[in-house]
Amino acid sequence: MSLTLQKKVCLLGAFAVGKTSLVSRFVKGIFSEKYLSTMGVKIDRKNLQIGDVTINMMLWDIHGEESNKKVPAAYMRGTAAYLLVVDGTRKSTIAAACELHERIRTEAGDIPFVVLLNKCDLQDEWQLAESDMEAMQEKGWECFLTSACSGQNVDAAFSRLAEKLLP
Ligand code: GDP
Ligand code: MG
Repeated sequence: MSLTLQKKVCLLGAFAVGKTSLVSRFVKGIFSEKYLSTMGVKIDRKNLQIGDVTINMMLWDIHGEESNKKVPAAYMRGTAAYLLVVDGTRKSTIAAACELHERIRTEAGDIPFVVLLNKCDLQDEWQLAESDMEAMQEKGWECFLTSACSGQNVDAAFSRLAEKLLP
């Protein structure tokens, strides 16, 4: 018997880490060089088939500039899972991710998430050390090195999250 589940999934992370680009890469399979600061909240959808179950992901993506401090509670409410995005070329975005992680756990509880260490195509500008990544793994964070630019690991990260949403 087949089953379809609709799940709200939030994108969380500091400004310009690549949240909008990752959703756009995942949903449409393209990467736009154009810089578009999305206003308000944008909701994209994508179906993922895992065995007999279809996960209909509703991907919530908030306007970037306020994304760290001022994520409204309503943005997080009712979310089933989240993607926590770090910009590998800006180490300070780890602290922002930690803060958002704490906040969403207060709002939504102990729900599934994965961590995307994004912009891994920018090797020359990469700032995360092995020890940073180990520290995240030790906290139990499941991390993916992603690039919205090349597409590397984008599907893998979203699919892993979908798997975690299976009943
Ligand atoms: P948001 O504020 O988190 O939604 O970030 P955006 O998706 O708007 O991306 C911010 C900037 O980083 C834009 O100029 C993107 O083109 C760029 N960007 C996003 N992801 C990547 C990536 O994986 N690699 C590279 N090289 N640039 C990226
Ligand atoms: Mg954005």
